Amino acid sequence: MKYWDEKIETMPLKDLKELQLKRLRKVVKAAYEKNEIYHEKFRKAGIKPDDIKSLDDLSKIPFLTKQELRDYYPFGLLCVEMDDVVEIHASSGTTGKPVVGTYTKNDLEIWADVMARSLWANGLRKSDVMQNSYGYGLFTGAHGFEKGAQKIGATVIPISSGNTKRQISVMKDFGATAIAATPSYALYMAEVAEEMGFDPKNDFKLHLGLFGAESWSDEMRKKIEETWGIIAHEHYGLTEIIGPGVVSECEEKKLHINADHFLAEIIDPKTGERLEPGEEGELVFTTLTKEAFPAIRFRTRDIAGYMEEECECGRTLPIQTRIKGRSDDMLKIKGVIVFPSQIEEAIMSVEGTSGNYQLVKKKEKSMTTLVARIEPTEERYNEGNIDELERKIEDEIYSILNLHIPVEVVKPNSLPRSEGKAKRIVEE
Ligand SMILES: [Zn+2]
Repeated sequence: MKYWDEKIETMPLKDLKELQLKRLRKVVKAAYEKNEIYHEKFRKAGIKPDDIKSLDDLSKIPFLTKQELRDYYPFGLLCVEMDDVVEIHASSGTTGKPVVGTYTKNDLEIWADVMARSLWANGLRKSDVMQNSYGYGLFTGAHGFEKGAQKIGATVIPISSGNTKRQISVMKDFGATAIAATPSYALYMAEVAEEMGFDPKNDFKLHLGLFGAESWSDEMRKKIEETWGIIAHEHYGLTEIIGPGVVSECEEKKLHINADHFLAEIIDPKTGERLEPGEEGELVFTTLTKEAFPAIRFRTRDIAGYMEEECECGRTLPIQTRIKGRSDDMLKIKGVIVFPSQIEEAIMSVEGTSGNYQLVKKKEKSMTTLVARIEPTEERYNEGNIDELERKIEDEIYSILNLHIPVEVVKPNSLPRSEGKAKRIVEE
């Protein structure tokens, strides 16, 4: 079968919107009736559930912000009895209180299903052996991939992240055919495999990479695909919404929003006004079917484009472009707005770079300056003539951003490696 859920994935847009409206009315009613905070929020905005008569009426409801989720930590927005919660997850909470995700039995079934849909669209099948190198724990990543892969009937190796040499041995010995990890960790694993005397491209059975939890450029994707000899797919999701599984990347590498469960809007991040399909702005999600913790108009702070158009794969589910960057990661350098992923794209398109880089932010008086520290490949480093490489990368960044960012090429293996989310921006 080509699709995991043909009826939903190829549903005419008009029918999909009808389904969304039906579900939206139900979830708004549940939040209003079952949760005091939501009730008060709606009351203040002068909204009753019956006022939602069309999808456009959604814009009458106030946004839900990350700050509110922190304020109501841990269970303030729960819409069921605690007794009905069967699993709890949380974000890492590096910048304040973590965001908590709660799930009923039914929520878990939906999660497994949207993950199975995503992984199936990527090409994962029952015959596959998926090495799950996302960190197990409170973080949603590893669990979402496990649930989806097992629903398909694939074999899961729940190895978690870290202990990279052991990862490589297990990958070889257990015959892993798919790897689920952060993209930066996948590149690091290839380095370790090479150190152990393996050729990542030819010595393993891998054919598929399932990557997420970081924003990464298309150039990085190419690099990973070439290094491992695999097809690499993007996954996008958020703890606030469900975890991974919010979108599915098809064989055309288009990100289809699982819009029967997650309704996306695109807004102007400054004014909060809703933008038209085809425009780029901040993604806002409403969960349509989640019971324990429905998120209504959650501002993701992720910048992407949103399109309603049929894809060559045959799916009619709306498409979002790859995340340009979190509005939190947005840098303003000499008055120019810069996303780290744009710099990454420039770096990676120059031959001789390795994919390991760091953007060093320096504050001088009121000015923020940026230096890009880049590791070349061992081969390129040994060739010498490093000045020329630095100049080439600077020119490439300039051609994309129209901004001069000094580049320092450093020794191979001198920048820190990450087993989870890579830290690309450091402050000095
Ligand atoms: Zn498609």
